Amino acid sequence: MPVNIDQYKLIQKSFSQNKVQLIAVSKTKPNEDIIELYELGQRDFGENYVQELVDKAASLAGDIRWHFIGHLQSNKVKFIAPFVHLIHGVDSEKLLLEINKQGQKNNRVIPCLLQVHIATEETKFGFDASSLLELIQSGRLLNYPNVKIKGLMGMASFSDDQTLLSKEFTQLNELFQNCKSILSDNDFDTLSMGMSSDYELAIKEGSNMVRIGSLLFGARNYSKS
Ligand SMILES: *Cc1c(COP(=O)(O)O)cnc(C)c1O
Repeated sequence: MPVNIDQYKLIQKSFSQNKVQLIAVSKTKPNEDIIELYELGQRDFGENYVQELVDKAASLAGDIRWHFIGHLQSNKVKFIAPFVHLIHGVDSEKLLLEINKQGQKNNRVIPCLLQVHIATEETKFGFDASSLLELIQSGRLLNYPNVKIKGLMGMASFSDDQTLLSKEFTQLNELFQNCKSILSDNDFDTLSMGMSSDYELAIKEGSNMVRIGSLLFGARNYSKS
């Protein structure tokens, strides 16, 4: 399936006015598709499998900013720690500890988002609101000097119910503002929410970073790999 260039240009144009950052989610898609958007100026790409990310990063342009958007296992952090631009799905302190350790080893501070569980489904990862607030209030983030928490990430329910989605996004934005005021940190500025099916609503509810895959690259075919 060809890359939807017109859609990309449309999205890019509306986002540059709104100060929303577009992460092009290229998981399962070939390098040629990534290069097509790269040549139009896109630099931020998102992947959710460690091996695929490592392979693509090794073979594509060095100025691509790679976002890890999937569920990250602690034992795989070491593979992406040297170069990853932003880890979106930090959902436990165990993972924070490991990212911090790998940050130290690589002599860098690794930017991360804490993932919050906002959906009604049981299957989505993330902190619940109360344990997130507890972590933020406790000051324990200072124990991880090689991790920089840049903000929050969340995935809404898999649903067409606009009222439900809207409610989930609003809740996440409120939590984000709350954390921001507790931390009083100007660099805590990123709210990653919204995908192909719900990004417009997410932006309306305060998102400033969206992760869009199928709308740009076409539907994914998992049966091939
Ligand atoms: C795959 C994925 C996306 C993109 O989904 P689309 O519906 O294709 O836009 C966004 N966020 C995460 C965490 C994903 O895994």
